Amino acid sequence: MTDAGQTTNGARLASASRVVLKIGSALLVEQSDGALHRSWLEALCADVLMLRKQGKEVILVSSGAVALGARQLKIDSRRARLPDHQAAAAVGQIQLAHAYEEALGGFGLTAAQILLTLDDSESRPRYLNAVNTFFTLLRYGAVPVVNENDTVATQELRYGDNDRLAARVAQMVSADCLILLSDVDGLYTADPQTDASARHIPEVARLTKEFLDMAGGPGSGHGSGGMRTKLDAARIAMGAGCQMLITSGRVMRPIQALEQGARATWFLPESTPRAARKQWIAGTLKPKGSLQLDKGAALALEGGRSLLPAGVTAVEGSFVRGDAVSLIDPDGNEIGRGLVAYAAGEARAIIGRQSAAIPEILGYRGREEMIHRDDLVLARERPGAAPA
Ligand code: GLU
Repeated sequence: MTDAGQTTNGARLASASRVVLKIGSALLVEQSDGALHRSWLEALCADVLMLRKQGKEVILVSSGAVALGARQLKIDSRRARLPDHQAAAAVGQIQLAHAYEEALGGFGLTAAQILLTLDDSESRPRYLNAVNTFFTLLRYGAVPVVNENDTVATQELRYGDNDRLAARVAQMVSADCLILLSDVDGLYTADPQTDASARHIPEVARLTKEFLDMAGGPGSGHGSGGMRTKLDAARIAMGAGCQMLITSGRVMRPIQALEQGARATWFLPESTPRAARKQWIAGTLKPKGSLQLDKGAALALEGGRSLLPAGVTAVEGSFVRGDAVSLIDPDGNEIGRGLVAYAAGEARAIIGRQSAAIPEILGYRGREEMIHRDDLVLARERPGAAPA
């Protein structure tokens, strides 16, 4: 630990308000016999409480289900085929969830289990539902504990490692810090276990091939992730404007150790989650339809407000909730793009109406906004647009 490390880690952590913390199997479960490291988990939950007291929201992504279940069912998880792997996960996930419920509960925190598949993060409507559940849980002060839904994931359609899953979760919830607790304290120029000249890398600002070459192949043991999947995670996180770090979880209270200067490799994105999201909306999406706005709504958007159904005069195209649509002002200019909160049919039913009337018209309480300001990019904000 160094003073410089303490200052750097401390300042970077202090700037984060929503943290995703990934816990690997090797830390939580004894490699030799599959037993749970209960005292380590309890100490980790003290760290979670510490972060919460600093005003941060915390989401945990934890492996360990397969390792715990394999122990109970006497399956050799390293040689298990998919059905055995899934059976082990089914048994182990209950134990894992229970362990978190108890350990977080000991600090007065409520654990909430979220099991995701690759599909859930790739299909728009399911993605949005998962995001809403995350935000609702955070509002209630619960601590989401995420794992891959191994029991239903298929061989071709699974993350298989929680490093990339954690990065996708960080992206989904617009987290500004992703911490990968690992059995190593970061990225090295070579494998430090076999090469005495290996140097630790404290900071990565761009993921070049040089770094990918350093990562080598997957690790061994219970977990599926090696350094390679961690760099894949870094690519996802950095693209989402989320800083990521790898540090050792082989100590009690690893987050406290980090604040005190423990070694880590930081991956530093150029942008913020908000800017990255806006860039994504502006750049990579083909609009599925368009909304015609009245003058008042166009002005409200320019003033940084959300788009309400009352300000929309017509709907064109066929789209589902979460699709990108163009926003057209009364002069026919595209003034922006956004992710719409209603499907086209619903949108047609509520345009021109006050938000308070939505439940009566649609039969359920949807969002007040047709497009929330966080889901909206004005033409002048787009990369390459002429400055206003
Ligand atoms: N989802 C798996 C489990 O809970 C672990 C995946 C990984 O090792 O990253 O056991």
